[in-house]
Amino acid sequence: MIGLKGKNALITGATSGIGQAIAIRLAQEGCNIAINYRKDPEGGAETEEMALQKACQNVENCGVKSLLVQGDVSQESDIVEMVNTVVEEFGSVDILVNNAGIQADSPSHEVTTADFDRVIAVNLRGAYLCARETIKHLLSLNRPGVIINISSVHEIIPRPMYISYSISKGGMENLTKTLALEYASRGIRVNAIAPGATMTPINQDWIDDPEKKAMVESHIPMGRAGSSEEMAAAVAFLASDEAAYITGQTLFIDGGLTLYADFRETWSA
Ligand code: NAD
Repeated sequence: MIGLKGKNALITGATSGIGQAIAIRLAQEGCNIAINYRKDPEGGAETEEMALQKACQNVENCGVKSLLVQGDVSQESDIVEMVNTVVEEFGSVDILVNNAGIQADSPSHEVTTADFDRVIAVNLRGAYLCARETIKHLLSLNRPGVIINISSVHEIIPRPMYISYSISKGGMENLTKTLALEYASRGIRVNAIAPGATMTPINQDWIDDPEKKAMVESHIPMGRAGSSEEMAAAVAFLASDEAAYITGQTLFIDGGLTLYADFRETWSA
């Protein structure tokens, strides 16, 4: 895709699932990739190896650089250090992908304050702080940049039993729009993707159970869950110059989940 070659990308939570696929895809497109991991350096190394291999399928992209950066996005000091490290090593952060995310299930009236804070601190505050540090850096160099938030269909669909997750992704919509509006004139684009049900470790319980999987897929008009690679393709597009006029948007990638499968047939007279 146009405009990705030679760009420096930082992807949070890039040791598995969607984040890993994004790191691999961006390397394949010729980006230098900084792979953030919280506590799984082996997962980081695995991502790095797969990404460099993919990049090398196109000889021209064989020279892409990679970097493993440890950091917990719920910790402000880790984020400051992480962005500084990438800037020192690569010279800039041109693309930030806020992918790290967690969820916790419990009836809303039983959620502990600690659990609530933990989810918000990773999914929403972490995404904001990573964006804040990246934007500060871009402004200091007067450099354009791109931020992509990995949201969810639960940005708009309420998710009972997952109140903190729902709030975090709902908040991400306004994080995306507010930053997009505030920094559009400075050449910084901010967008989000909202995956539907995607085959990643976060969903291992239903992926491994054929009955539960069929139940999940029955709610998806296209009849199947998505892949991490399908999410990564959209991120590559939004990060590229092909999306140069797109900012403040959330792109839903959900096989039609947000069209509500239950309304496929006439349900009222
Ligand atoms: P995943 O569990 O494979 O990936 C989450 C990643 O975030 C992991 O690599 C984990 O180590 C990392 N992480 C967690 N806490 C962190 C922290 N404090 N600091 C740094 N990294 C941390 O699951 P995934 O499905 O690939 O999730 C990626 C993103 O996609 C999440 O934001 C998730 O909410 C979103 N999403 C996933 C789905 C889905 O169906 N899989 C649907 C919608 C949205």
